[in-house]
Amino acid sequence: MSAKYVFVTGGVVSSLGKGLAAASIGCLLESRGLRVNMMKFDPYLNVDPGTMSPFQHGEVFVTDDGAETDLDLGHYERFTHSPLSRDNNLTTGRIYEQIILKERRGDYLGATVQVIPHVTNEIKNAMRKVSANGADVTIVEIGGTVGDIESLPFLEAIRQMRQELGRENTVFVHLTLVPWIAAAQELKTKPTQHSVKELLSIGIQADVLLCRTERNLSHEMKKKIAAFCNVEERAVVAAKDVPTIYEVPLGFAQEGVDALILKYLHIDSAEADLTKWKELVDRCYHPKDKVSIAVVGKYVEYEDSYKSLKEALTHGAIAQNLKLEITWIEAEGLESQTPEDRSYEHQLEGFDGILVPGGFGKRGIEGMLNAIRYAREKNVPYFGICLGMQTACIEFARNVCGLKDANSSEFDPAAQHRIIYKLRELLGVEEMGGTMRLGAWTCVLQPDSLASKIYGGVTEISERHRHRYEFNREYEALLTGGGLRISGTTPDSTYVEIVEIPNHPHFLGCQFHPEFKSKPLEPHPLFERFITASYKNRQQRSGESSESSGKASTTSPAATA
Ligand code: GLN
Repeated sequence: MSAKYVFVTGGVVSSLGKGLAAASIGCLLESRGLRVNMMKFDPYLNVDPGTMSPFQHGEVFVTDDGAETDLDLGHYERFTHSPLSRDNNLTTGRIYEQIILKERRGDYLGATVQVIPHVTNEIKNAMRKVSANGADVTIVEIGGTVGDIESLPFLEAIRQMRQELGRENTVFVHLTLVPWIAAAQELKTKPTQHSVKELLSIGIQADVLLCRTERNLSHEMKKKIAAFCNVEERAVVAAKDVPTIYEVPLGFAQEGVDALILKYLHIDSAEADLTKWKELVDRCYHPKDKVSIAVVGKYVEYEDSYKSLKEALTHGAIAQNLKLEITWIEAEGLESQTPEDRSYEHQLEGFDGILVPGGFGKRGIEGMLNAIRYAREKNVPYFGICLGMQTACIEFARNVCGLKDANSSEFDPAAQHRIIYKLRELLGVEEMGGTMRLGAWTCVLQPDSLASKIYGGVTEISERHRHRYEFNREYEALLTGGGLRISGTTPDSTYVEIVEIPNHPHFLGCQFHPEFKSKPLEPHPLFERFITASYKNRQQRSGESSESSGKASTTSPAATA
């Protein structure tokens, strides 16, 4: 059987949720027992998003093989079981890098190297490479919006794929907007018509239209769009705004998107089994209570910077049937004016749990240290991820072990006590570009530790990394003497992976990024346990406040174990 492809393009405006739409299609095909591949092409010239600011591009999603990818791959991973690696996300920059490398090597044997056919061939080869694993369907998302100059080579490549493989092996899905115009009290189809026409002008006739809309699309409206855009009426799909993203696959299923795509691709499959997704959505709508988490970071004004983190916390909360309330706190705003100044504390009061996520650079570090000190001293559940683990170690060294100057060489290269440092630098190894520890690394867990309990008693785990600096084991004896426990390391003991404080209700920091591996139907145990501990804190506090309410005393700031 020839490889089958679904190509997803976007029109009218950006940010319509193309990644989520592609992932939802993948999810529906999997729910029918099919195997899918997911891949994305990004039309920018950066070789990968690794060098882009989180403010520009949102989170950098990391795969097991250490590829720094677009955050849409996070959606793919959360909604499907598609294998994902650096082959599944290619930018214009990387395609050109490969071509120029070949050209310099003389691989083109004197030919003039051109966008067509050389760039388009490179793009098509990348698709074929992914589909070669024999999955039933490969879903290819083309980044950007139809009409952009940058995406033209990718659109030309998928046009050629249709020519080569035929209609029964390729489907064009186009995501558009049907805006509600308040002044006219009407939904408008014109932007969709224009966008479909734009695609047609480069030789692509859309097969399925996913129409983002705030309202229901009436039968007449669908008929009109179908007629003007030259698609079947049932191929006009209302992609209505939904309160939770986990509802998107269910909405698509109701509109028959999966059945239609499979018809076009001539694939027979089982009926969709969406029981688990329905249960999940039902839980979102009927939480038993809520849990409030403060996330203290530096990219908080742009939530996409912490996309997977937010998702993973949500998964943990849904698993416990709780509604998650995240408060994003700008770390810089928690800094003290003098060592005695604790005026920041009021900003941290009343949360059930505190989390410091990953990040780079010096800004906001002192505020994070204050938040961690608060969590440690007041017995508020704490979860530190990557930078949040490093800062937890620095805080412990400063305020428990008395090393006032403790720091990371990232923030103060001249610090006397570099609790966190660049291991290779100290070993005298030359630093070249791309010096991060990236992707999956094995971690050995200490028996009877909190970490080992959370992971269900296993002795080895694998988690993904994206960082440069490491815990300095020269300070291990001092810190563990003070009560910090190192509960996870790489098998050769070189790198510290997890630290915890045993005499605290829940205090854990990990050097890796567990958020990349959490899925709505398979919540990550570290997030689930952090949510559980935070909720316990909430219940204890509400118990204390109802006990003390008759005595006219004020509530203690946080529960103790
Ligand atoms: N800046 C720290 C490092 O490079 C932490 C990185 C992160 O949190 N992802 O090690």
